[in-house]
Amino acid sequence: MIPQFNLNKEYSFLENEIQKELKKVFFEKNFIGGENVTQIEKNIAKYIGVNYAASCNSGTDALYLALNSIGIRKGDEVITTPFTFISTIEAIIYLGAKPVFADIDLDTYNISKEKILEKISNKTKAILPVHIFGNPVDIRDIKKEVNDESIKIIEDCAQSFGAGINCQRVGSIGDIGCFSFYPTKNLGCYGDGGMITTNSEELYSNIKKLCNHGSSKKYHHDIIGINSRLDEIQASLLRVKLKYLGEITSHK
Ligand SMILES: *Cc1c(COP(=O)(O)O)cnc(C)c1O
Repeated sequence: MIPQFNLNKEYSFLENEIQKELKKVFFEKNFIGGENVTQIEKNIAKYIGVNYAASCNSGTDALYLALNSIGIRKGDEVITTPFTFISTIEAIIYLGAKPVFADIDLDTYNISKEKILEKISNKTKAILPVHIFGNPVDIRDIKKEVNDESIKIIEDCAQSFGAGINCQRVGSIGDIGCFSFYPTKNLGCYGDGGMITTNSEELYSNIKKLCNHGSSKKYHHDIIGINSRLDEIQASLLRVKLKYLGEITSHK
């Protein structure tokens, strides 16, 4: 049987550098909230083309944190695609909101703009398109057609790190972008990891609080949050892999 996914080639290509970086992390023993996490957030914000990037524990958490940060609550409607991984829907339901499915375009397998427009109601609080299989949805076009600032656009970029349209990368066009670093994704770590990108300082600080027990100052908890953090080991691997992403992608 031919395995669907195999990391051997990539690992041998990066082995020396990865081992060197891991050694540093083990020497420092600063496993949560260290320099690698700060750096990978900066590097990814720059790469995607946004002001802010906040790391978290998974793509699923990224979606949950993004929807929570824009105030999605019980009774709200979020328009999304039925052709996605379960996380996209889970995040909506977890907050008590209702997923409203807009069907896909059969040319792209991505959510159809026309179907989105049909599903907008006075309860619609957000639209959650998924860039499936690395193929970007035209978010600018959706934004233009929806033409309602009160409806936020959250991009599920879990399968599309680095993809873009007209020099704009996915995760930089909607209000928030959500990424997964699950090992099989375009940019994967060697465990779980996720990232949230945005240009809004307000959303960024909300997300930073929510992913750290609702706290921005140690032992001061303003809101109920969760524990969702990227650790130094994964962040150090991601820093190495991001540098070679273009090269690795073209190898495949
Ligand atoms: C993988 C994936 C997720 C979830 O990411 P995790 O890091 O595994 O939680 C969400 N949405 C889509 C479209 C995915 O492919």
